[in-house]
Amino acid sequence: MQFVLASHNKKKMAEMAAILSGLDIEVVPLPENAPEPEENGATFEENAMIKAKSAADFTGLPAIADDSGLCVDALGGAPGIYSARYCEGTDRDRNTLLLQNMSNQDDRACRFVCAIACILPGGEALTVRGECEGELLRESHGEGGFGYDPLFYVPAYGCTFGELPPETKNQISHRGRALRKLREELEARL
Ligand code: IMP
Repeated sequence: MQFVLASHNKKKMAEMAAILSGLDIEVVPLPENAPEPEENGATFEENAMIKAKSAADFTGLPAIADDSGLCVDALGGAPGIYSARYCEGTDRDRNTLLLQNMSNQDDRACRFVCAIACILPGGEALTVRGECEGELLRESHGEGGFGYDPLFYVPAYGCTFGELPPETKNQISHRGRALRKLREELEARL
């Protein structure tokens, strides 16, 4: 059975296909001409559902979409759902802004959050969430990953997401955790 993934990101496709392997599911990409819905939800779950519904409506297929971001306690949860849009420019620019906004803060607790929304073949909708706790460093470490990875220190591993091999990151990451919950939900329902 085909599920459309509401993303053009090849890395996400590969990660999702790996975690959902063994289920009777083929993850297919969103067609290039699909509309980009406005992500005007107030939560990760709402934004993931907006993307999943839009993809399901456009393709007529069951759909999966995710929405993720970094929530920093000392900033009241910012950048949160605005992580990708924290400021114009590159990932490096956003990391610089985040470090500036955190320069006077001793509380460095933060977490990555990922919500995944799924529209099932019968039209039923569900969401799952995965989180990963960490600490925001004061400077970047590591060249791997993307986004805020070089600032996100994981105490249990003694390094940042940017320094972890991708397989290890996938095992403990917010997205990996949410995907494994999705797998359980699909195993129970399909
Ligand atoms: P999206 O939901 O894939 O659009 O991601 C939202 C934004 O959150 C990304 O552009 C990154 O800035 C940040 N983000 C989400 N997941 C990760 C991650 O695993 N590592 C680093 N940054 C992330």
